[in-house]
Amino acid sequence: MYAERMGMLPPYLFARIDEMKAAKIRAGVDVIDLGVGDPDLPTPSFVVEELCRAARDPAHHHYPSYAGMPDYREAVAGWYRRRFGVDLDPATEVLALMGSKDGIAHAPEAFVNPGDYVLVPSPGYPVYRTSTLFAEGRVYEMPLLAENHFIPALEDIPKKVAGSAALMFLNYPNNPTSAVTLPGFFESAVEFAREHGIIIIHDNAYSEISYDGYRAPSFLETEGAREVAIEMHSLSKTYNMTGWRIGMAVGNREILAGLGRVKTNVDSGVFDAVQRAAIAALSGPDDCVRDACRIYQERRDLLVGGLRELGFAVEAPRATFYVWMAVDDCMAFATRMLDEAGIVVTPGIGFGSGGDGYVRFALTRSTERIRQALERMEAMGL
Ligand SMILES: *Cc1c(COP(=O)(O)O)cnc(C)c1O
Repeated sequence: MYAERMGMLPPYLFARIDEMKAAKIRAGVDVIDLGVGDPDLPTPSFVVEELCRAARDPAHHHYPSYAGMPDYREAVAGWYRRRFGVDLDPATEVLALMGSKDGIAHAPEAFVNPGDYVLVPSPGYPVYRTSTLFAEGRVYEMPLLAENHFIPALEDIPKKVAGSAALMFLNYPNNPTSAVTLPGFFESAVEFAREHGIIIIHDNAYSEISYDGYRAPSFLETEGAREVAIEMHSLSKTYNMTGWRIGMAVGNREILAGLGRVKTNVDSGVFDAVQRAAIAALSGPDDCVRDACRIYQERRDLLVGGLRELGFAVEAPRATFYVWMAVDDCMAFATRMLDEAGIVVTPGIGFGSGGDGYVRFALTRSTERIRQALERMEAMGL
């Protein structure tokens, strides 16, 4: 029944974990889910209010424009200027997305010929790999190693691979390792892309979730980036809007036009009322973002401190809401955590072979639940 390409897709490990979790809940276990990359905090109320107002306006009940409302694209450009000092032409350098997953999933269709390589960080967000496979591209995994601060060693990519690569995905602050970029890395990536004629897609989903005074850059701040790259950001993690499905791609206009052409044939844009609400979020006061970071930071300190007391060597992330911890066998560790303590953590292997030997904790649960999780782990004798 299924097409051959369906057989190329790796088993979606996260769906299996969901099943195991559901079975535990059915069995009456009080499961603490530290697996999900979905903020538990609500969308700011002024954003919800704007959606309600805009939804009542019949002007918003029609097909949206493909690229996004001019006002939305202006709001994105304004936010990029204020936040990163990056100037964008709203008409040609901003494209609305139904979340960044939309952009990631469809980009290879526009740029990858069958057999072309796509350079994918490993571990990495799983959609980089699956979108490559749907476009009949070949995945080349760039290992993110602790000894390199989870930054890919571009000089290790074989010349033959680089020469037939169409795309490279990058993501800093990084999911799942929580690493941030290093000075000079984005510059090297731009140079590499120029040398080999590769398009870079930088996934900046976590730029606003950071601690200890760290402020993540935009890839577009890098000199020459606009010649080779686009960047995706979304309101999902920044404003606790994962359910709303809105984001943006910005940067090189030809690359955006290619992605936009694919999307024109796939979807019909983002509901105008959702775009209105997103305009309110991007143009509004950003204390909601700072408040969320304070909450994650408190959870981070509790979890990292507790894990260290249990004897684990773990780094406190400077950005993202993940803690990435080395373990002997990630599947065995995650299974034991669920079976013996009712705690869901994500085995690193689910993010590609480079994630083997790690588990990911998400800081998307209250300090009370994190404290309970630590108590259960201590009782397990971990
Ligand atoms: C959450 C996430 C996304 C997708 O977010 P959207 O809700 O589709 O905007 C993209 N990339 C990474 C690395 C993520 O963690």
